[in-house]
Amino acid sequence: MPNTPTALDIAQALIRCPSVTPHDAGALGLIEGWLKEAGFTTQKIVFSAPNTPDIPNLYARIGTDAPYLVFAGHTDVVPAGDVGAWRADPFSGDVSDGQLWGRGAVDMKGGLAASIAAVLAFVKSASFKGSIGFLITGDEEGPAINGTIKLLEWAKARGEIFDHCILGEPTNVERIGDMMKIGRRGSLTGRLVVHGKQGHVGYPHLADNPVHHIVRLCAALLASPLDDGTQHFDPSSLAITTLDVGNPATNVIPAQAQATFNIRFNDVWTPDTLRQEIETRLARAAGSARYSLTFDPTNAVSFLTQPGAFVDLMAGAIEAETGQRPTLSTTGGTSDARFIQAFCPVVEFGLVGKTMHAVDECTPVDDLAKLTAIYARVLGAYF
Ligand SMILES: [Zn+2]
Repeated sequence: MPNTPTALDIAQALIRCPSVTPHDAGALGLIEGWLKEAGFTTQKIVFSAPNTPDIPNLYARIGTDAPYLVFAGHTDVVPAGDVGAWRADPFSGDVSDGQLWGRGAVDMKGGLAASIAAVLAFVKSASFKGSIGFLITGDEEGPAINGTIKLLEWAKARGEIFDHCILGEPTNVERIGDMMKIGRRGSLTGRLVVHGKQGHVGYPHLADNPVHHIVRLCAALLASPLDDGTQHFDPSSLAITTLDVGNPATNVIPAQAQATFNIRFNDVWTPDTLRQEIETRLARAAGSARYSLTFDPTNAVSFLTQPGAFVDLMAGAIEAETGQRPTLSTTGGTSDARFIQAFCPVVEFGLVGKTMHAVDECTPVDDLAKLTAIYARVLGAYF
C-alpha cells in the first residue's frame, strides 16, 4: 500500500465523522478501507433488535493461524452537548496547542486510531505467524445491545477463536502509562417501592407512612459495607440514586414512596448473590412495611483478567515506552470488556481519560504517537 496513515491522520478523519450513537456517519467505512488495503478480510454487519436503532459493526482479520490477537473498540461517541461552549467545532478534528480537539479524541477514536496505525505499520513491515483482528462497534455509548456482544457471538458462530483482546478505552489518569485495566466491577440497579396508606398527618395512627418505612429500609441497605474489597478490587459500593415521594401537601401522609439504588460490585458477588443479600437486608428491617423490590436486567458482571503472561507483556511494553509501570486497576464504569471477557482474556489500555465525555475533549498529539508505539511494541512481543 502507498503511505501508511499515522494515528493522527486516522483520528482526525474519524473525529470528522459526527458518529454520535446510533449514527455511523461513515466512520466504520473509513476503517474498513484502511484495513482492506492492508490485506484484511473485512465484514460489516448490521445488528437489529426491537425498539433499538440498527447498528453497523465491523469485523476484520488478517492471518488464519493462532495465536489470534484482537483489538476492540467503538466509533460511536456521546453528543457534543453545548456546541457553543467548545473552543472549536467538536467535529473539526483540529490540532492546535499540541492537542487534537474533538468529540471522541480520547473516548475512543484516538485509541482506536493508535491501534489501527500500529497494526497497519506492523503488517506492512513484519512477517508474523498468527492473526490480528478488529472488533469495532457503533453501539458502546448507547444501549450496547446491537454492538460488541452480538459481534462476539456472530464471530464465535463462524468459528473465530480469539486468544487475547486489547480494548483501547481511555484508562490513564494523568499520564500515558499510569494505569491499565484488568477487570471491571459489575453494575446492578434495584428499585424499591413501599406501599403505605394515605391519611391525615394529624391522625397518623389511621395511616401507614411509607416515607418512614423507606427511610428505615434505605438505612438498612447502607448500614454495613457489602464487603471489604479483594486483592484487585475496591469494596463494592451501593448508592441510593433517587428517593421519590412526590407529595406536595404538608398535611397528607402519602400512599407510596420509592427509591432506586445502584450497586457497583466486585468479584465477591454475582448479580444473584447480590440480589439475595439485598432481599435479606430489607426483610430484616421491614417490620410492618409492605414493599416490592425489583432489579433491572443487568449484563454487567464483575470480571478479572488474572495477572500473568499477557498482562505482563502489556505492562512491559507500556513501561518500555513510558518509563512507568502501569497500575493494574479495576476502577471506573463498565465497558465492552464485560462482554469480551467471556470469550478471551481482555485488558484495557488507551489514552488519558481526563476530558472524556466533556466539552473540549482533547488529547495531546504526542500521546497518540506514544500509544501507537506501545501497541507496536505489544505486537512485536506478542508475535
Ligand atoms: Zn468509550
